[in-house]
Amino acid sequence: MQGCDPLVLTGWLWPGWRVWTLDADRGIPEERLAVLSHVSGAAAETLRAATIEPIAVRIQGERPDAFSTWPWTLTLGARNRKRNGGIQFCPACLQADDTPYFRLPWRFAWHTGCVVHKTTLLDRCGACAAAVTPHRLSAYAAHAAVCATCLKNLQKAEPEPCPPAVLAFQQAADQVALKGFGDCYGETWNAATWFATADFLASLIRRANRSPTQGLTYLLRSNGVVVPRHIPPIPGTRIERLRVEDRQDLLAGVWRLLNLDAKQLRATLKASGITRQGWCEKEQSVPEPLARFMPELPESPERSAYPPRKRRAGGRPRHEVVLMMNRLQRKLELRTQ
Ligand SMILES: [Zn+2]
Ligand SMILES: [Zn+2]
Repeated sequence: MQGCDPLVLTGWLWPGWRVWTLDADRGIPEERLAVLSHVSGAAAETLRAATIEPIAVRIQGERPDAFSTWPWTLTLGARNRKRNGGIQFCPACLQADDTPYFRLPWRFAWHTGCVVHKTTLLDRCGACAAAVTPHRLSAYAAHAAVCATCLKNLQKAEPEPCPPAVLAFQQAADQVALKGFGDCYGETWNAATWFATADFLASLIRRANRSPTQGLTYLLRSNGVVVPRHIPPIPGTRIERLRVEDRQDLLAGVWRLLNLDAKQLRATLKASGITRQGWCEKEQSVPEPLARFMPELPESPERSAYPPRKRRAGGRPRHEVVLMMNRLQRKLELRTQ
């Protein structure tokens, strides 16, 4: 609309500040915002309200650290101006726009579907699988809903239908994020506690994939939770870094567990024979709504459903090397972000 590339526009607006190497959706510093406000005519307050910050503060209970991953905010994985994810979209919503734009809620990890079109959000270009990076487009692009890598129109992508349980979780989480509080296990909690509970349940389901115990497997199965097998079993890959399909599988399980009442949860915890150690990993803090069930769990260590693997002589097997390589790459990514 300004007749130049986004890079040229931001270079003129903020000389010497490389905004596209950062996650500007998380907020723009006061003095930079004043410049944008001045030239755009939009009030600084209005511009600030269009960032993730107000919701992130509510979810975290305080302002998240500028350099860390923000809870429930998808990470961009930015390297210079390149990115490896973080922006989701609904092609039909973009198609319906007069001027296509990317919605703020599409940046949140609990958003995996479109409530209007009942379809799964996409987080890649369907043609070339590149992450969505409208800031890399040139002035010749017809609008922002174009893949900057292969120039295909993102409005034309065809998404899968979204599982209803996942949409139900998304709408419940939206309400908690907006209102600042939510219910689970018979009580009302502030948004930070509610989201921490959902996060804990997601990590419990992922643990059942990584290192299943009989107690944990029983607990999840008896509540109809399907343990997704395809999520990379790398510790530290938090929900904010997962692809949309992986998050959908996890969140469907989280929704089932969140919907139990306290009595049902207590009964299945008891029947599963899960121990405190099986319920909560070392150094993991248990959110308040779940912590009150802890004293009722037995203390003795649980036997693993699978015997520990013996180290073979010679080189490591391929899958172990792949896992180690993934871990190393993640560490490197974290350093370069
Ligand atoms: Zn839509
Ligand atoms: Zn593409």
